Amino acid sequence: AAKYTGADRFREHNSALDATAQHHAELAAALRRGLERGEFRLLYQPIVELPGGTVTGVEALIRWHPADQPVISPAEFIPVAEHSGLIIDLGAWILDQACADAAAWQQRHGSGGPRVNINVSARQLLDPDLPGLVADALHRHGLTPDRITIEITETAVFAGGAALETVRELRELGVGLALDDFGTGHSSLTLLRTCPVTTLKVDKSFIDDLNGTAEQEAIASSLSTIASTLGLRAVAEGVETRDQADRLHALGYRYAQGYYFARPIPASDIEELLTGPVLIP
Ligand code: C2E
Ligand code: MG
Ligand code: MG
Ligand code: MG
Repeated sequence: AAKYTGADRFREHNSALDATAQHHAELAAALRRGLERGEFRLLYQPIVELPGGTVTGVEALIRWHPADQPVISPAEFIPVAEHSGLIIDLGAWILDQACADAAAWQQRHGSGGPRVNINVSARQLLDPDLPGLVADALHRHGLTPDRITIEITETAVFAGGAALETVRELRELGVGLALDDFGTGHSSLTLLRTCPVTTLKVDKSFIDDLNGTAEQEAIASSLSTIASTLGLRAVAEGVETRDQADRLHALGYRYAQGYYFARPIPASDIEELLTGPVLIP
């Protein structure tokens, strides 16, 4: 008989949009077993400097490989991991693996090794142990805090009062702090006054159709101006074409990330990108 695992059920549930509590519980159990069995992998997507395309950083992006099944993307399972609380253990694994890879790059390339961005979800930001966990991971892997950047979302920071305090403690450790999907949340500009971020990751929706309308270009341009005026880095997300990269550079963007430069790839494949620009001439 065919195996009928939690992951299979989850796929069905997704297509049927039948969000029953039982499906969630089954998927949560499958995720937990997956964590115990080592079914998760981190891929890394380069963040490059414009216009040359030198890799200055990478973003860690998780994938789930349930036994004998196709890979499952984080958009499908991170929400369930959050609801079930498993994100705390999964997040600890992600942090440890990303720091291990960052340490290996630092050993081989010194300060030329890529800084590693690590996504942290809303539930993790509500965990008062998070700053201690990050400090411990840095210490165990012999990393200085400037080697990693924690990516948070505006929505997550507003999830509760404690989240902002956690963010401040993270910043005090000396790690970078990036506001992910910037511009899509509710209180972007208010947040910039209270939240000690170092980087704005300008959401893909502002980068798409850059040559389409004057409005789109004005918004993208303003967001890069806000960042530089506040002394923050701006990273353009989801850059897919040469044309976009050129426009973004002209609009003042110094950093970009997207399929035009590179897709998310295994840590071992990042290595060969560190010796030269990833831009196709
Ligand atoms: P995100 O943090 O905003 O990550 C960027 C997403 O955009 C990634 O999707 C990446 O593969 C995709 N992307 C990058 N460049 C392009 C492009 O040029 N075009 C298009 N269409 N897409 C592009 P991915 O890996 O599926 O991750 C989706 C989301 O899942 C992430 O969005 C993040 O919110 C979450 N996520 C991923 N990994 C983790 C993790 O380790 N922990 C947590 N808490 N969340 C994660
Ligand atoms: Mg991110
Ligand atoms: Mg993002
Ligand atoms: Mg995103």
